[in-house]
Formats: sequence, C-alpha cells, structure tokens
Amino acid sequence: MEINSDTKLCCLLGHPVKHSISPQLHNSAFRYLGLNMVYLSFDVEPKNLSRVVKGLKTLGVVGFNVTIPHKVSIIKFLDMLDLTSKETGAVNTVVLENKRLKGYNTDVEGIRKSLLDSEVDPEGRALIIGAGGAARAAIVALKLLGVKEVVIANRRIWKAAALARRFRKDGLKIKSVSLIDVKRYSKTSPIIINATPIGMWPHQDETPLYSNDISSGSIVLDLVYNPLKTRLLREAENAGAKTINGLKPLIEQAVKAFQLWTGLEPPRDLLWRVAEEALQSWRRNEE
Ligand code: NAP
Repeated sequence: MEINSDTKLCCLLGHPVKHSISPQLHNSAFRYLGLNMVYLSFDVEPKNLSRVVKGLKTLGVVGFNVTIPHKVSIIKFLDMLDLTSKETGAVNTVVLENKRLKGYNTDVEGIRKSLLDSEVDPEGRALIIGAGGAARAAIVALKLLGVKEVVIANRRIWKAAALARRFRKDGLKIKSVSLIDVKRYSKTSPIIINATPIGMWPHQDETPLYSNDISSGSIVLDLVYNPLKTRLLREAENAGAKTINGLKPLIEQAVKAFQLWTGLEPPRDLLWRVAEEALQSWRRNEE
C-alpha cells in the first residue's frame, strides 16, 4: 500500500522501543487486508509523554500502543478507561473515539484467550509468579475465566501483598507468598503463569521452577517469548504438563488492539509467521 495523504497512523510509545515487534505485526496485517494505515514506533522519554499524547490527539491518529515505562503514567492523559484498564490500573492500547482518548489493557485479553484456547479448568488454583504489570493483567484475565483462587509469588513479597489486597474482592480468594516459597504451591496449582523476566534471553538457563515442582496435569504459561521455549517450558514438558509460550498472549493482545482500531480481524497465521521471523532475525543480530 502506497503511503499518501489518506494514510492513517497507529503507533507505539515507549522508552526504549527498539526491540518491539509490534510494527512488524500491525504493518503486515494492514498490508494483508489492504488498509491504508501505517504503524510506527516512537521512543518517548517520560518527561515528553504529555506533549506527545496531546499532539497525537490533535493530529487525529487512529490509536496507539503504550509500553514500558508509560503503561501507568499514560492514564492521567486519557479521557476514558475501559474495564480492563480500570481493573489493572494500566493501559497498553489507546483508541481515539469521537476525539476522545480511551484506554484499554489488551494484555488481559492476550492472557485470557491463551488460557481459554488451552481449555483451562477454572475450578483449580492459579499460581502467578511476579507482581508487576503482567501479573495484574493475569489476575484480571483469570477472574474473567472464573478462577476463584490465586496465589501470587514474588521476590519482593510486599508487592505481592499489595496486589493481593487490591484484588481481594468479588469472590476472589488471593494469597501472597515470597518467591522462596513458590515450590510449596506449584505442584498443587493446575494453572501456573510466569509473569517475570526469569529465563529471558540472555539468561535462558534460569527458571523459577523445575520439573519436580510441576504436576503433570498443569498448564504452564510463560509470558517470556524470547526464547520461545524457555527453560520453564522445557521443565514443564518434562513434568508432562501442557505449555503455552509467550508469543501466544503477545499475538492475542495485538489482535485485540487491531480489532479496536480497525473493527477487523487480522490474519493470525500471518502474525505468527511474522513474529517468529522477527524474533529469529533479532537473535541473529544479537548473537
Ligand atoms: P514489571 O512490571 O517490571 O514486573 C516485573 C516482575 O518480575 C516483578 O514482580 C519483579 O519482582 C519480577 N522480577 C524481575 N526480575 C526478577 C528476577 N531476576 N527474579 C525474580 N523476580 C524478578 O514487568 P511486567 O510488565 O510485569 O513484565 C514481566 C514479564 O512479562 C516481562 O518479561 C515481559 O516481557 C513479559 N510480558 C509478556 C507479555 C506477553 O504478551 N507475552 C505481556 C506483558 C509482559 P520484584 O517486584 O521483586 O522486582
């Protein structure tokens, strides 16, 4: 598609943004569907966020993604929030609707859809490792799936305790523990989610759990997507557990953002291919 005076803009605001594969994902889907749209990424320092958001609104962009470190600080510059961003207290997708900026958290849908497609049983307990932004999205996704009991294990236990306090309502039983004690809960948790960077390149040998700590009936979702098969997922496979790699929620969050911006369904097969190629080429450049 040729860029011309009708081309519509979507973009990513983060700091840094260099390693994001969102431009490849969205641009390939725009091209595939013949949409006159383009997705760019902008490295925005925190001190410039307010002016950048005002500028994008004035220019009339279709919408934008927000990543680290702006997912929470963006909220004060928006006009409206959807339920997922209200519940998580974080926004990763913004849509300009009738000249008003509305925030969404599509990481919630990314995690919800990933677990749903693996047919998780909401009756069992879920263990979340980590207490940052991804853990918050995971709690909301689990709530939407009807899970009633969650354990949050984190290195700094006070952060896990703060999350537990925030979400201990609406019938959700939620407990916080130190990461040191995670093994006391892992074997009896049918759903395990790693929401920390443990195991991420270049620390591929690290894992929060070993095969002995995981039960064969469990589903293990690792939000780390580089490498695709993390040490945790290999340990889970050795234990006989079902595994989901971090590319699935990454693609599903992009699908949701794409739907919000265009009202259309992007081709998932193409997104998988593009994402895998982008990660491979990133690895080739780094090694
Ligand atoms: P965040 O808000 O910075 O939180 C990071 C969490 O990881 C904190 O709980 C932190 O514990 C813990 N942590 C960090 N390094 C650790 C270490 N070496 N050992 C033990 N715990 C450690 O980050 P986030 O946004 O939640 O992201 C977490 C991970 O999920 C990242 O790898 C991110 O790329 C990934 N992610 C993936 C997707 C996806 O769609 N696949 C979506 C969102 C995020 P403390 O509180 O003790 O520091």
